[in-house]
Amino acid sequence: MALLEKLVVRLLPAVPKSVVRRFSRPYIAGERIEDALSVVRSLNGAGALATLDILGEDVTSRELATASAEAYREVLKRIAAERLDSNVSVKLSQMGLKVDRAFCRDRVASICETARDTGNFVRIDMEDSSCTEATLAIYHDLRASFANVGCVIQAYLRRSADDVARLAAAKANVRLCKGIYVEPRAIAFKDREIVRRSYVTLLETLLGSGCYVGIATHDERLAFEALNLVRKLGLSRDRYEFQMLLGVDTQLRDILVREGHRLRVYIPYGSHWYPYSLRRLKENPAIAGHIVRSLVAGSGEPSTI
Ligand SMILES: Cc1cc2nc3c(=O)[nH]c(=O)nc-3n(C[C@H](O)[C@H](O)[C@H](O)COP(=O)(O)OP(=O)(O)OC[C@H]3O[C@@H](n4cnc5c(N)ncnc54)[C@H](O)[C@@H]3O)c2cc1C
Repeated sequence: MALLEKLVVRLLPAVPKSVVRRFSRPYIAGERIEDALSVVRSLNGAGALATLDILGEDVTSRELATASAEAYREVLKRIAAERLDSNVSVKLSQMGLKVDRAFCRDRVASICETARDTGNFVRIDMEDSSCTEATLAIYHDLRASFANVGCVIQAYLRRSADDVARLAAAKANVRLCKGIYVEPRAIAFKDREIVRRSYVTLLETLLGSGCYVGIATHDERLAFEALNLVRKLGLSRDRYEFQMLLGVDTQLRDILVREGHRLRVYIPYGSHWYPYSLRRLKENPAIAGHIVRSLVAGSGEPSTI
């Protein structure tokens, strides 16, 4: 990473929110449910599936957690009413994980119920390592009552091989990603090549044991490895799907759709866009130059990001 890029990434929290908002626009559908549903409609029209994320995390009150769960139930009803092909992705810290674990579990159960009644599915996102143990415990608990719930495994975590062994035995529906939070070396691999190897090993275990896997990556090498595994294992196209974030590498997305693979786009929306945007921008340091130019110029839309 170039020095300037590193510096901008470090200084991002000090960048005015209006600038962050401008540069994060491609990654977020908008603030309203209508904005999100319109993006789903257009992706469905282009042959892609969707998963909707109502932005928000680290909720500290029961009232807010209950309101967030209610908002998810409303989205599920709108998806059904408009016959869209989208499920939902939920963060447990938004459902009160840090307030009370049992309370959080019940909020997510209420979303799973509405999803079951509308023939839909709930993916539990994975957050930073302070949430891993509790998130997987709640997932396994909910899975005993609901068939329509899935979880996420982060390939950078050293513990993931053990977690995947348990999920493989349970034939879980798993999204596999590299992991986005900054974690200490004691618990997470830091070497990009090791993270890739971990990803491929975990993917082989999950696919080989009959799990349905959401292959969440924009790393073309991993997409290549995944396609090799699918071929080697002789899997049909209903045993896996690729997953990508809104606004990232639409060219690879279109290639995979054209080749006939299921491809789901993760669509965040809502008013709490700031922490999500910072994570996305930190992942895309090439944007640094645009941000600097924009700050120096005082305004102006980015040409490309
Ligand atoms: C559908 C989906 C759901 C996810 N859910 C979770 C989750 O629950 N928990 C979690 O910790 N992480 C989650 N992630 C994030 C994931 O862990 C990675 O941080 C992210 O996907 C980048 O890893 P990569 O495999 O794409 O490889 P990378 O090597 O990071 O990226 C590959 C290529 O994509 C480009 N790219 C990646 N991100 C961006 C970006 N923001 N803007 C522009 N280009 C970019 C890179 O420049 C690079 O060229 C999810 C990712 C996806 C796709």
